[in-house]
Amino acid sequence: MTNHDSRHIETLAVHAGRTPDPATGAVMPPIHLATNYERDATGACPRGFEYTREGNPNRQALETSLARLEGGAAAACFASGNAAAAAIFQALTPAQHVVIAQDTYYGTAVLLKDIFAAWALEATFVDATDPEAIAAAMRPQTALVWVETPSNPLLSIVDIARAAAIAHAHGARLVVENTLGTPVLQQPFEFGADLVVHSTTKFLGGHSDVLGGVVVTNVVDEFFQRLRRIQVIGGAVPSPFDCWLLQRSLKTLPCRVRAQSETAIKVARFLATHKRVERVLYPGLPEHPGYLTAKRQMSGFGGVLSFTLKEGAAAAKALPSRTRIFTHATSIGGVESLIEHRASAEGPDTRAPQNLVRLSIGLEHPDDLIADLAQALGEVPQPEPKPVFPGGRLLRTPGMPQSG
Ligand SMILES: *Cc1c(COP(=O)(O)O)cnc(C)c1O
Repeated sequence: MTNHDSRHIETLAVHAGRTPDPATGAVMPPIHLATNYERDATGACPRGFEYTREGNPNRQALETSLARLEGGAAAACFASGNAAAAAIFQALTPAQHVVIAQDTYYGTAVLLKDIFAAWALEATFVDATDPEAIAAAMRPQTALVWVETPSNPLLSIVDIARAAAIAHAHGARLVVENTLGTPVLQQPFEFGADLVVHSTTKFLGGHSDVLGGVVVTNVVDEFFQRLRRIQVIGGAVPSPFDCWLLQRSLKTLPCRVRAQSETAIKVARFLATHKRVERVLYPGLPEHPGYLTAKRQMSGFGGVLSFTLKEGAAAAKALPSRTRIFTHATSIGGVESLIEHRASAEGPDTRAPQNLVRLSIGLEHPDDLIADLAQALGEVPQPEPKPVFPGGRLLRTPGMPQSG
């Protein structure tokens, strides 16, 4: 059976997994907060729902939508991106081995090092931009190859097809974390991935107001059935309201992501010419080492970029409090643009250089975002002399930006 649906992603985003409510005809689905469902005289649950941890209409509809968007066979939703990743590692058995890109979300590495190492799951971190490095790390016990492309926050690009070929030659599965790509720009199953993971908190949710994660599978095999078991027995499931909110957000995903991606390239080009900027990390720039691979496997380069400053760490730490439109906050993928000194957010084990600043591009006008970065990177303005009453009390000028 093929998972391929010939309809375009804009159509799937609006319609997949959605039918008017059979009970009322409501065009938008109700939120089913019930934790339990009535049995019939035989003790069965005729509509397929029994207890909400095991399944409910909102989660089922969301999982259908997400599976269709990625072109997969089925999806399992979790309470966070980390819970989705943890479920995959839990589905392995002790003494199995994982080959994982060193450029992955730092939380994924922490899961392996702090939690799963204690369960004897071994992990080797490799430079996955080099297929030879993946191949060299493979062992007979390797069950999984895990790559993230583009990676957060270093925007490195992994050749998915080559990673898949190496994994499969060793009887291992390939997991692609597609949080930055999104199914709009990149569909890893087309290139041989077996599982796709997202933190749905980011672009899929898109409004910085719902936490979630998902694993999508290309085939419903024993591994996915075990993952489903971990989802419903482990119980790290999203609430019906979270599912409803996320499914609502998916309708605008293609429009949002394309706009964010188009603005990001403009911002990247502006930064690449700025005299204070040392390097821009964005796969849409031809000088990026992953540019050709990204061009082959993506239809746009995404809404996240990072850059380093020539003056070093102090300048990079100071910059996020100087922007007026970019909000100084963690996370990515929302409609509002964000700026962050990534090494501070990740702590001592970070792989992010100390002079690196990460941007998440929202839906504001690109000219306004570029103007904001230009003023933030500009000469340090002399503080305006504050009018002082003879008694010494400060007068606040209305509308003056507050540094935060
Ligand atoms: C945020 C993020 C995660 C973790 O997701 P949560 O929803 O915060 O648990 C995992 N991977 C990537 C690439 C992320 O950006």
